[in-house]
Amino acid sequence: MKIITTIEEMQQTAITLKRLGKRIAFVPTMGFLHEGHASLLRAGRRLGDILVLSIFVNPIQFGQNEDLGRYPRDMEADCRIAAESGVDIVFTPAAAGMYPPGFQTSITVRDLSLPLCGASRPGHFDGVATVVTKLFNICQPDTALFGNKDYQQLAVIRRMTADLSLRVAIVGMPIVREEDGLAMSSRNSYLSPEQLQSALCLSRAIRLVRQRYAGGEHSASILLAAARELILAEPAAVIDYLELRDSASLATVDLVSDSTLFALAVKIGTTRLIDNTVLGDTP
Ligand code: AMP
Repeated sequence: MKIITTIEEMQQTAITLKRLGKRIAFVPTMGFLHEGHASLLRAGRRLGDILVLSIFVNPIQFGQNEDLGRYPRDMEADCRIAAESGVDIVFTPAAAGMYPPGFQTSITVRDLSLPLCGASRPGHFDGVATVVTKLFNICQPDTALFGNKDYQQLAVIRRMTADLSLRVAIVGMPIVREEDGLAMSSRNSYLSPEQLQSALCLSRAIRLVRQRYAGGEHSASILLAAARELILAEPAAVIDYLELRDSASLATVDLVSDSTLFALAVKIGTTRLIDNTVLGDTP
């Protein structure tokens, strides 16, 4: 497994590999890898001749008062997981290389970036779309894999890829959860054992909404009220948003169907957690 830290070397390596007819599969991450990331890597291993993992804590997708400075990092553990998952190249650029003085270009995916996490984190998806575009240009992937855990991010990237005619196939992967239901996240490392228990209210709300929907309840307001009540019963939880939206357009819905997305963001202490489900998908 090769570790590349400069944009020039990564881009040159990718161009050379492409000339040799190799298909590149790519998994962009912010590191502190867990089983969710590993599931993307294993799928990527099957989809490409060469598997590239990027680890880059992207400063432009963090707001002023967010956790950029304390975002967890562990390069040694990440390299171990990467090697076990069949990664060929780890690309870890420095922020100064990605955003040199004078940098002033931004990609905006207009409407899909506005609701949900975009409303709570203004500018977040511009930062995501911009870095993913740069990473695509540097790593030259044929296929790129993203998790449904960040559902809106995946929607933004699919739209951007289509709108800008980028020659990369976007693959979405299921959410990997702990046995108790908690969606895996690098940010779970911020939580104390008690907070990890409190955090189960997100996956419980998802289960409740899925059960009530399967039982015939189609009213968005009734389903949201039930989910809200469940989360309000957890004293450590503060709701950022709880929403039912069309899974393609992200427009709000009054009546839910199999193609409705239930998405929520909840703060446990200072840690903001997100989770989601599409009601017609297998959980
Ligand atoms: P991150 O390092 O958090 O930016 O995530 C990198 C990629 O891994 C994104 O495409 C995420 O959606 C995906 N990912 C993170 N957590 C999970 C999870 N629990 N299950 C599946 N994919 C995940």
